[in-house]
Amino acid sequence: MCMENKLRSLPGVDKILEYSEIKDLVKDFPHNLIVDIIRENMAFYRTSITQGKQPPSPDEIVSYVVKQLLALSQPRLRPLINATGVVLHTNLGRAPLSELAVDAMIKVSSGYSNLEFDLGKGERGSRHGYIESLLCRITGAEAGVVVNNNASALLLGLTALAKRKEVIISRGQAVEIGGGFRIPEVMRQSGAKLIEVGTTNRTYIDDYEKAISSRTVALMRVHTSNFKVVGFSQSVALEEIVALSKKSHVLVFDDVGSGCLLDTAPFGLEHEPTVQDSIAQGVDLAFFSGDKLLGGPQAGIIVGKKIYLDKLKKHPLMRAMRLDKTRLAALEATLIHYLKGEALVKIPVWQMISMSLTEIEQRAQSWAGCLGNNVKVVSGESVIGGGSMPGASLPTRLVAVNCSRKSNLAEKLAGWLRDQDPPVIGRISENILLIDPRTVLPAEDPIVIKTLQQGLKHLDL
Ligand SMILES: *Cc1c(COP(=O)(O)O)cnc(C)c1O
Repeated sequence: MCMENKLRSLPGVDKILEYSEIKDLVKDFPHNLIVDIIRENMAFYRTSITQGKQPPSPDEIVSYVVKQLLALSQPRLRPLINATGVVLHTNLGRAPLSELAVDAMIKVSSGYSNLEFDLGKGERGSRHGYIESLLCRITGAEAGVVVNNNASALLLGLTALAKRKEVIISRGQAVEIGGGFRIPEVMRQSGAKLIEVGTTNRTYIDDYEKAISSRTVALMRVHTSNFKVVGFSQSVALEEIVALSKKSHVLVFDDVGSGCLLDTAPFGLEHEPTVQDSIAQGVDLAFFSGDKLLGGPQAGIIVGKKIYLDKLKKHPLMRAMRLDKTRLAALEATLIHYLKGEALVKIPVWQMISMSLTEIEQRAQSWAGCLGNNVKVVSGESVIGGGSMPGASLPTRLVAVNCSRKSNLAEKLAGWLRDQDPPVIGRISENILLIDPRTVLPAEDPIVIKTLQQGLKHLDL
């Protein structure tokens, strides 16, 4: 068939609209959307025919249009099961929320709320008052505000207090956090001038002292959350930085990163700086995320001295970065867990971190018991992740599916598991698919078992 005939053989839009599969869609989708999708498909097929491809049959076109419309009406964002053993996985949405935090979000979003309404006085109230008092009680700070995320918190703090002034930072802490977020670039955005001191691996208190000038407004410490300098390295303790700042009449800004509020040592992890430490040592402002080790929704939190927080609260950027009622509700509920001393048992990331090896072993054994001969329980490690605690790992037990019989079988199984609803995400090491119970919420156990059983059957393992 010559190209003109092939093009002519394509059915018209009207013809496609007459197919019963398409007619069935009319009750769920507007007519013009269906027509648009058909036209887009026709344009695509015309181009592919001019490039020498065969014309599709009308049935093929119809089935493709139906598929596209159905795919378009599925939300892209959906839940999945994290069996990777990475507790805070940025690609998988960081911290899962506590039951109470989820309830709080649903309650304030399905109707109206007193977001900015004082129920006692019957007049306009403050959006931030209560969360501020929680933050102060938990961290020991005088004041606090919450914004969109820690990147915004830093941008707000630096813009409001350090614009056209100098902020001194150790060269080893002028870091990239991930996803293109670099401390030096945030500083540039804010209009603050970054003065880097020391070298990549070693910085001394004298380096800071020598760099202080009449234009210096603050010394900044950034927790190097996602990497570690080992060997010949030296950084200055926060205590010394604070002492120097007092002597030189400049401020201290501390980017604490993960917002850790509990001691990590009892779990065999190395010490992660806590917000309370930072405040107790006398920093002027501490910045941290809501959805890392704090275990709440995405948020950026700034706590510290009232005189500086008052300036931040009045800054025009504050309005552009503020939290909506749902995240505010989740953050309040999460902070209340800390206030009541129940964070370890109520907040999922801390339940995962503190889960005993015995419990993990029991779950792994019971999963493996349902999965046949190719599956056994092996020792391994879970990690904190999410730009928190570089190199920190927790001993765990993994369900290991041995796929070494055929090449690529582990990838195939992993791909099949990703294609389920909900998808189950594991990791692969040397042709073995590994599933870590630590990061699987206990309520998800039966789904993991069932999905794995079906996957093994599907691939004849
Ligand atoms: C993660 C992190 C940030 C960025 O926080 P977001 O809440 O993701 O914006 C900034 N600084 C440090 C030290 C971090 O670890």
